[in-house]
Amino acid sequence: MSLRRKTFIAMLIGLSSTMLVLYLVISSVATESFLVVDRQAALRNLDRTTNTLRDNVEALKRSVTDWASWDETYQFVQGSNSEYVEHYLHDDTILNLDVNLMIFLDNDNQIVYAKAVDLHTDWQNSAVQNFEDYSRTSPTFLRLLTTTPNAGFVTIADEPMLIASRPILHNDKTGPAAGTLIWGQHMGPDEVLSVAQSLRLSLSLFDNSSSYLPDDVRAVQGVLSPATLRTTSLISEMNIAGYTYVNDIFQQPSLTLRLTQERSAYLVGREMLRVVLITLIVIGGFAGIIMLLLIERVILLRIFHLGERVRYIAASDDIGLRLPLHGSDELTEVAIAINAMLDAVSESREALRRSNNHLELQGSQRMVELEHQKSNLQAIMDTMGEGLVYCVDGLITYVNRAFVDLLLYEVTDLVGKPFTLLSAHPDPAQTPVFFALPRRFDTTLVRQDGTTVSVAITSTPVETSDQRRSQVIIVRDITQEIAAKRQKDYFFARASHDLRSPLTNIMTRLYLLGKKPEQLETHLKILNQVTTHMLALVNDLLDISRFERGVTVLNRRDLVLQSVVEQVVEVQQADAEMKNIELTAQLSEIPLQVYGDPVRLNQVITNLVSNAVHYTPEGGQITIEVGFGERDGEKCALVCVADTGIGIAPDHLEHIFDPFYRVSSEREGGSGLGLYIVQEIVQLHGGEINVTSEPGKGTTFSVHLHLSGTTETAPESTLRSIHHLE
Ligand code: ADP
Repeated sequence: MSLRRKTFIAMLIGLSSTMLVLYLVISSVATESFLVVDRQAALRNLDRTTNTLRDNVEALKRSVTDWASWDETYQFVQGSNSEYVEHYLHDDTILNLDVNLMIFLDNDNQIVYAKAVDLHTDWQNSAVQNFEDYSRTSPTFLRLLTTTPNAGFVTIADEPMLIASRPILHNDKTGPAAGTLIWGQHMGPDEVLSVAQSLRLSLSLFDNSSSYLPDDVRAVQGVLSPATLRTTSLISEMNIAGYTYVNDIFQQPSLTLRLTQERSAYLVGREMLRVVLITLIVIGGFAGIIMLLLIERVILLRIFHLGERVRYIAASDDIGLRLPLHGSDELTEVAIAINAMLDAVSESREALRRSNNHLELQGSQRMVELEHQKSNLQAIMDTMGEGLVYCVDGLITYVNRAFVDLLLYEVTDLVGKPFTLLSAHPDPAQTPVFFALPRRFDTTLVRQDGTTVSVAITSTPVETSDQRRSQVIIVRDITQEIAAKRQKDYFFARASHDLRSPLTNIMTRLYLLGKKPEQLETHLKILNQVTTHMLALVNDLLDISRFERGVTVLNRRDLVLQSVVEQVVEVQQADAEMKNIELTAQLSEIPLQVYGDPVRLNQVITNLVSNAVHYTPEGGQITIEVGFGERDGEKCALVCVADTGIGIAPDHLEHIFDPFYRVSSEREGGSGLGLYIVQEIVQLHGGEINVTSEPGKGTTFSVHLHLSGTTETAPESTLRSIHHLE
């Protein structure tokens, strides 16, 4: 709930309860005061009424005295004034005197004349008789009237009446008394009403001995006493009644006078309370609105602006913003406290920013380092010859370039896949990749194109912080190793076989030497051939061994290629002639300077020419060309040995440089090592050997060698010359 609403509710409750309490207190005090005022007013009116009644008694007494002290009345009672009634006792006269009953008694208390006049004819008709009856039943009453002048209330036949008596005297109030004159004034309801009207009051007179007393009158009987002559009682919210005893002629409280009147004070007060209530509400409302406006302006609006400003500061990046300070009240204190807090926050933010900057700097440096290390590592791993795979829980998470190239996959094809899916084993689960200890084993993997590749796997478990089974797998393509091993096996088998054959020959010849010593010369000749062949074979094997171990040493020097070729042709010419083969050499006039081992280069050309002689039928031709060639856009020395021999079928052509490879085993003493050694020597010189052949037509071997810097070059047309050797 907002502060504004809370304030409004609190103020509403506070003001309402204050006004309610105020109103209740005022109302309670005022109501009590109004009751007192109303009671006093009732009592005052009671006094007025009793005074009026008393005045009536006095008036009646005066009136009866006037008439009793009058000679006319005196004479009438004595019987000597017969015209008295006719002259003076007319009904109107009596009523004008406000008298309802006239009793003229003589000294024997005998009624001389009696007359009742009243608007109520019932009362009028029975009044005299009732008086007589009452006088008879109450002798005290008559004695009270006749012995002394008396006046007071009396109830005769349940009708209250004011009665006064006087002795009848002369005009000068001298006696002796001729009798008693008794006047009565009927105090029935109408008379009481007229008294009430004269007083502007509501009056009732009750005979206490009556059995028909109203409840309220009966109730006050116990309250009224000689000590408490008057009392009041609320008979309704709007009306109050006052009660008092009226003593009768016997001085007994035989009558109760009840006065009822409106509670004027209460009514005025109630109206006043209503006005007070309305005033309170209006004043309270005004006070509330003014207070709310004041609170709104002095407190709430400022709190709102304070909050707005705090929110603005919180949302902005400007840490220098502060709350404005106005005045010197509690809200200003709050603003000062918030500003102090903002100071502390900006200080700590500044410290945090510095620390963050420092950390960011460190972090970025670290990132750069890491990126650098990562790219280094990546480069290292991508330049590795072996495939590298990193697996977590058997799933590939990293592969290097070599592995991707080996299996012809894309990186995205492999990451996330189980490593075992690459296994060529029918059941991939049989190719475990995780071992508790590093392990090496050979297996076969399947490439993307479905072909297989033999690999050696080294799986090394890696400890990670998340306790997952991770391992680094190094995959090495062992296809060539397997081929080399196979070749080596083949090589040893062939070497053993080729060495065993001459040894068997030697053993046979030694045996024959024992048996047929006379053929010693033949035996020695053959033994010489065989051992020569064996020596050549062993030399070849030693050469191969040195090539493979990389320990072959070339005794290089600058030489002219043509001179090497000339030496070879010179040696091979005899063999060629034996087969009637035309061996020619076409040598460039320009000396081809080569930096090489003359012995080894001689071995190369000898081997090629020897093979050409061997595989060229009689009458064939062998041509050796020595000149300039071109290799990789560079001029080089080129030696071509071409024959018109049997040629080599294309199937064999690609294998003829393999060790021990022979197209056929026709040639005696051939080992299949010659071309292999030739190729090794040429490559050791940084050169290249190629072959082209057509079965049945001939074969050409071309050897490209680097020219040394001293070789002079000239336009081809003028420099080229051919030198023939026979
Ligand atoms: P070999 O000692 O058997 O000659 P080489 O290594 O020198 O061994 O030659 C390998 C094979 O190449 C030979 O067995 C032969 O079949 C073939 N060959 C080499 N030179 C020629 C050639 N000029 N003409 C035809 N075939 C040749």
